[in-house]
Amino acid sequence: MAVDDVTDVLVVGAGPTGLALACGLRLQGVGVRVIDRLPAPATTSRANFVHVRGSEVLARLGALGDLPQRSVRAMRITTYLGDRPMMRIRFGDPGLRTAAPPMVVSQALVEGELRRRLAELGVTPEWGVSLTALTQDDDTVAAELDDGRTVRTRWLVGCDGTASAVRKAVGINAPGVRLSERFLLADLHLDWDMDRTGTSGWVHPTGMLGAMPMPDDEGRGDLWRLIAYDPASAELEQTADTSVAGTTGAPRAADAYGRRSRLTEEQILDRLRAILPERTGRDVRVLDSEWLSEFTIHRRLADRYRRGRVLIAGDAAHAHAPFGGQGMLTGLGDAENLAWKLALVARGRASATLLDTYEAERRPLATDVLRGTANVTRVNVARSPVGRFMRDHVLIRLFNQPWVQRWVTFTTSQLWVSYRSGPLGVGRAERVAARLGRRICVGDRVPNLDCTRRDGTPTRLYAELGGRWALFVPPSGTAKAEPSAEPGDQPTRLTRTDGVAEAWLVRPDGHLAWRGADPASATPWLADLLRTGRTR
Ligand SMILES: Cc1cc2nc3c(=O)[nH]c(=O)nc-3n(C[C@H](O)[C@H](O)[C@H](O)COP(=O)(O)OP(=O)(O)OC[C@H]3O[C@@H](n4cnc5c(N)ncnc54)[C@H](O)[C@@H]3O)c2cc1C
Repeated sequence: MAVDDVTDVLVVGAGPTGLALACGLRLQGVGVRVIDRLPAPATTSRANFVHVRGSEVLARLGALGDLPQRSVRAMRITTYLGDRPMMRIRFGDPGLRTAAPPMVVSQALVEGELRRRLAELGVTPEWGVSLTALTQDDDTVAAELDDGRTVRTRWLVGCDGTASAVRKAVGINAPGVRLSERFLLADLHLDWDMDRTGTSGWVHPTGMLGAMPMPDDEGRGDLWRLIAYDPASAELEQTADTSVAGTTGAPRAADAYGRRSRLTEEQILDRLRAILPERTGRDVRVLDSEWLSEFTIHRRLADRYRRGRVLIAGDAAHAHAPFGGQGMLTGLGDAENLAWKLALVARGRASATLLDTYEAERRPLATDVLRGTANVTRVNVARSPVGRFMRDHVLIRLFNQPWVQRWVTFTTSQLWVSYRSGPLGVGRAERVAARLGRRICVGDRVPNLDCTRRDGTPTRLYAELGGRWALFVPPSGTAKAEPSAEPGDQPTRLTRTDGVAEAWLVRPDGHLAWRGADPASATPWLADLLRTGRTR
């Protein structure tokens, strides 16, 4: 059995979470290997909404690239009842200062930009390599790979999706329930009279249908992502089985997670050909297909995010409905939160206790996201006549209200995510004072503020983060750059241009770590955090 040299961090899974984590670790100089069982990067795409928070994470990692230019800005959703538009929701900047726009862009392109950035940082994922088992002791983890090698690593992070082998290998439970019957999923070139400036949804007694315009490489301008709830397709499973047995020779489709479906691609296409005119009331001609797949919705949450030297992130830790575009978004957030903490611990700069703040900060958010997406699924699926009546006649009208739409936009953006009541946050009195005074609290996201560097050149906060801490000092700031253990770890000192004199220490993930009158007090505060791994 070949044993490779000890690596700092082994990331299992080169999906968006694993790639973002690897970028964040490399930004701090940590040695990283990334493996993925796929033979090559996926070209098909589950996610296509990237809400603002996701764009901001990509921007801070230097992985936004030209995604905004390549995306469709169709952040408007119109819901039809038959042919009548009943509800319009606009996603976008809800008046906050955001660093990057929300986007409709394929997950494959997002992963492509993350891989490009990771390559700049010196790492290429190893494709066609599967983790099969792992063991750990006090100092290292031994990861067994399907090619017979064993990789020794100081830390291992499972970013290996819903069926996470890492999660199972360390015995972390992820109880869950199934929330829906089958949804059909397809990227089709369509000839129909549909507005491409927004996403459209239809509510129909047989199930909902969603259609969103997708950018395509050839620039044909007719590619659509379709999602159709189709419990009736269960009846076709028997014939799919026969065809696999050889009667028709038609291969079964793969589901959205790459597992074998019980339907053939032909059956999915036939169902969509019937569903499209039935639910939209329009003439639709299917020209050709890029991807035919399906999924059912499960809700699942890991009961812990760390066991010893092994952690999990993204879909490996939480799986939920795709409605609202929260999965990849939450995975990117997990990765950014974990990266700076694991980097400090892996480099021996912080106590391993700091890693426990990752679960403490991120798991409550996953709980909220699961609850929200489960509710949206129930509304979409609306099994009972009462549920359908409420959806079609009450909720749709409610969602037409501008204040409800602002709330939906803000909720899905995840800009509200705050760690104020976590182990790196503050006490209740301070939280209440911040709420009453409507002011930013330790733990909150800091907007992408305009500021200047020490030499007076203008910049913005997020451009200066990229894996580093930032310290806002007043214009006349005389705080000495007190040496920390390693000079490269000192916060970047910046001055705000809005005249606020208070000193702020900003975490590498853009959240407020500390505030005070004297910037010099930030250094001992940070040293204490690194030594103890928590602030309260
Ligand atoms: C239909 C649909 C639409 C969606 N739309 C959106 C959306 O609009 N916006 C949004 O934010 N989210 C959306 N999501 C959710 C999003 O796709 C996922 O949350 C996201 O892919 C999770 O990323 P991840 O990196 O955690 O896991 P994954 O993307 O699942 O990546 C896991 C990787 O690990 C690899 N792997 C697995 N096991 C092993 C092993 N043993 N060894 C090595 N490698 C392994 C896999 O090959 C894979 O590449 C949608 C999901 C679905 C199903």
